[in-house]
Amino acid sequence: GEHIRVVDLRKRYGRTGPWALRSVGFTIPRGEVFGLMGPSGCGKSTTLGIIAGFVTPDAGQVLVDGRDILPVPPHKRGLPMVFQDYALFPHLRVHDNVGFALKLRGTPASTVASRVGEMLRMVGLEHKSDRLPEQLSGGEQQRVALARALAIGPEVVLLDEPLSNLDAKLRQQLRRDIRDVLQRTGVTAVFVTHDQAEAFAVCDRVGVMFDGTIAQMAPPPELYRRP
Ligand code: ADP
Ligand code: ADP
Repeated sequence: GEHIRVVDLRKRYGRTGPWALRSVGFTIPRGEVFGLMGPSGCGKSTTLGIIAGFVTPDAGQVLVDGRDILPVPPHKRGLPMVFQDYALFPHLRVHDNVGFALKLRGTPASTVASRVGEMLRMVGLEHKSDRLPEQLSGGEQQRVALARALAIGPEVVLLDEPLSNLDAKLRQQLRRDIRDVLQRTGVTAVFVTHDQAEAFAVCDRVGVMFDGTIAQMAPPPELYRRP
């Protein structure tokens, strides 16, 4: 069934600036990986920022399971995010990065340990659990960031250009891995990228953004198909 509904979002930065979002709306069923794709400046990050809670829209709604989350502060929305620059805690070892949010919630140590192990196995990094982030490659750091975001078992995860800092070869490899991990966990995902090949490889459905609107929305095989 329906999980996330975004209704008629409008946003401009400042009172006189151009509209960053004119009227953005879409519905995401539970378990779908939904892509927001388009060129730089089209409004992808603004849309994701509104869902995450660090951008305030001028109008519109974001419903999760039918409940408007816009009044809920960001950290209480339970929507972990994966960023382009990994944003791992540099002084914490891999397992402590992944277990951080669980510990913060007072989860018993043995539960944290087994959950962290499960997450690291899923992203293929059990053997590097004692490393510090600086001792990992960019691709490995991004896997850790994904494991960390999924560790609390969220219903939704937000990904903002998670592969854009990686080199081309790694990016292709990680597309498959991210897709596998998201599918295996059954989480609903919003995946922002400017890269069409990436959106097509990772997402079940893609909203193509242009100048603050969603110009097209369809599963990858149907996008750009001419009648
Ligand atoms: P505002 O107070 O207008 O919402 P911010 O405080 O976020 O804006 O940023 C101050 C100014 O910096 C903006 O008005 C804008 O001119 C500029 N700016 C910041 N980030 C961006 C961006 N991503 N794209 C274009 N301009 C930006
Ligand atoms: P995308 O993620 O697709 O690159 P954004 O959502 O970052 O697009 O930006 C949409 C529009 O809003 C752009 O015109 C951008 O310059 C503008 N913008 C984004 N952030 C700010 C900001 N803090 N202040 C002013 N303008 C901004």
